[in-house]
Amino acid sequence: IEIQREFFNSNATKSFDFRISQLKKFKTLLKENEEAIHSAIYKDFKRSSTENYTAEIGLIYHEINNCCKNLKKWGKRQKVKTNLLNMPAKSYIIPEPLGVTLIIGAWNYPYILLFGPMIAAISAGNTAVLKPSELSLNTSSIIAKIINENFEPRFLKVIEGGIAETTELLNQKFDKIFFTGSPAVGKVILKAAAEHLCPVTLELGGKSPTFILKSTKLKIAAKRIVWAKFLNGGQTCVAPDYLLVENSIKSQFIEMLKNEIKRIHSPEPIKSEALARIINARHFERLIKLIDQKKVIYGGDYNLQDLYIAPTIIDNVSFEDNVMQEEIFGPLLPIIEFEDLNWAIKQVKENPKPLALYIFGNNRKQINQIQEEISFGGGAINDAIMHFTNTNLPFG
Ligand code: NAD
Repeated sequence: IEIQREFFNSNATKSFDFRISQLKKFKTLLKENEEAIHSAIYKDFKRSSTENYTAEIGLIYHEINNCCKNLKKWGKRQKVKTNLLNMPAKSYIIPEPLGVTLIIGAWNYPYILLFGPMIAAISAGNTAVLKPSELSLNTSSIIAKIINENFEPRFLKVIEGGIAETTELLNQKFDKIFFTGSPAVGKVILKAAAEHLCPVTLELGGKSPTFILKSTKLKIAAKRIVWAKFLNGGQTCVAPDYLLVENSIKSQFIEMLKNEIKRIHSPEPIKSEALARIINARHFERLIKLIDQKKVIYGGDYNLQDLYIAPTIIDNVSFEDNVMQEEIFGPLLPIIEFEDLNWAIKQVKENPKPLALYIFGNNRKQINQIQEEISFGGGAINDAIMHFTNTNLPFG
């Protein structure tokens, strides 16, 4: 951290040429290591290389290109109007790097959650210390290898480890912390940062409700929900967490969901190449406890040895059920039916603010009502997760 601060203070990271050359160097390294990157995540939780490319690596390339193209524009000082009292002076906003940054990532999208903020940090002229999650050991190790063997530690450095190492890092003074992970650890980060008055970005989790209105095209809705829910084995922060389905179309919609699961993951999902496994036994046990077998209408089977849980639909769920008390973060899809939209909106609002919210429907009035009455991070109408890929939209 000291040598990074010294390097930052030397102004070496600030020129646009330096920033762009480092981004280009990183892009080349990514290309050279693609095979190893895919194989590490397969070893960690059997995510396929196709899914890995679409959900992470492709987006990282896009992020690098986008930053190389725009960073000069973003970094330019911007002239603003001057008030009468200061005339004839001129007024500017001058963007500046923050200094030494700390980026702490979660395991579920281990590459983009570290490299995304790292690309932003480089683009803005900072140095960075990166801390991958210890739960995905193989990806953590390839990330460390790519960065530590190719960049000077005074500019970029990966520190591997778990709670002890992160706690030690948090005792140090940084100029910015970017954290992705659970709300519980988010609190630990914010408390530690407060000691140094260090600015923090927290990318946390939560339950993301998904409305299915009777006005939607049911088949398309089923297709998009099954893809989004079971992507990465359901371990996606912005996955549809549970469905709120209008009662008049519920049974028809459930049949479509089942057909779609069979189509994407085959009638025997344990053999599906497209279904990632649960990250570890602790999370596996946690998820199993959330399955109320009496209410399971599809799936429900699991295998501890393989850390496999089948894509599972749970019907007749109420907001009091166990599965509704925490972010699911696994391949379980609870269905809550409603007749009165006002009731459904009220229930969502009585729970913590959703990270994402999805509405499947074609009734403009109802869509607007949901959007206007519920506050949420990001979302989509008649789609799920895809808003995340649009870099013109803010994320988080
Ligand atoms: P986590 O909070 O357990 O761990 C995240 C990071 O914090 C890891 O690097 C870990 O080593 C570190 N950590 C864990 N305990 C710590 C402690 N006591 N002190 C200091 N550091 C500690 O989260 P996870 O299980 O890796 O990821 C799952 C969570 O992340 C879910 O809630 C998910 O929704 C969320 N998430 C959010 C986004 C987003 O962009 N909003 C993206 C992915 C995941």
